Amino acid sequence: MRRVRLEAKLVNKKDGDPGLLVELIGLGRFYLFDCGSIERISKRDLRRIARVFVSHTHVDHFIGFDRLLRHSLGEAIEVHVYGPAGLLSNLEGKFSGYLWNLQEAGPTFVGHEVEGERLRTRVFPGARQFRGGEIVEEPLAPGGVLSSEEGVEVRCVPLEHGVTVLGYCVSSSAFPSVRAGALERLGLRPGGWLNTLKEEALSATGPQGRIAAQGRDWPAEELARELLEMRAGDRIAYVTDTLFTDRTLESVAQLARDASELYCEANFREADAARAAATSHLTAAQAARFAQAAGARKLVLFHVSRKYDGELEPSLAEARTIFPNVE
Ligand SMILES: [Zn+2]
Ligand SMILES: [Zn+2]
Repeated sequence: MRRVRLEAKLVNKKDGDPGLLVELIGLGRFYLFDCGSIERISKRDLRRIARVFVSHTHVDHFIGFDRLLRHSLGEAIEVHVYGPAGLLSNLEGKFSGYLWNLQEAGPTFVGHEVEGERLRTRVFPGARQFRGGEIVEEPLAPGGVLSSEEGVEVRCVPLEHGVTVLGYCVSSSAFPSVRAGALERLGLRPGGWLNTLKEEALSATGPQGRIAAQGRDWPAEELARELLEMRAGDRIAYVTDTLFTDRTLESVAQLARDASELYCEANFREADAARAAATSHLTAAQAARFAQAAGARKLVLFHVSRKYDGELEPSLAEARTIFPNVE
């Protein structure tokens, strides 16, 4: 297994439609969190989106699905789409809204919707003009794990927005890294052997046998113990469209525990807290309290109400009074 780094960027400006594109560096593919207007994603990158995680299907979070669908035509790819209950019928609605007579196998979309502790899956193959197959229902994996491939895992928690919304966290596995000063201590220089050792450290059995480094022969297990330590992988949480309550605070704190980055909506400012509560959205200060409770390293605000005319500084300043590292 290789080390996979995660790199996230918001698709639109802070007051544009929500969307977070996460590149799985090393795997050559992307995960997309929410699918509002996505004109800014290049056609080439659109075809590399392997999984889409929709918080909920309010139009500003799902209107971009049509563009994704359009640019996937003719590609022999499988795209998984995850979301709360209702997603499967929304997907069916999208597909049945157009006329199809595809000749190629085309893409296949696989919808997965979460309801409580259940997960329902339905396949929509381009080869069958996107007519959905049978719905398969199973228990949701423990810890709300929705997706897991090549060391990259996505978990979800339910949030409250009048309707159920899902918050997500994508994380990559821990990876071996050289301890400070360890190479010098053993009189070694980095080389191809070190990559081999790291790869073996990630394998199921761990390093075994012997390894040659700079003309000497070492027991691999011992060398790995001397040189390497496991470091946490990347962890990026995505939270949007929710009320601030004790329960959502607890859920987000668990979801985004020690996150390297928490992307969190901040539709309103504290002065408009009543409006935030009435529309089941957050203020910047509440987003900061989520980040603080989770022990996140960095908070990135987005989905800021257009009523503030693109003026972001007051929201950032408000959040910084509670959680310093805000972007
Ligand atoms: Zn919404
Ligand atoms: Zn929204």
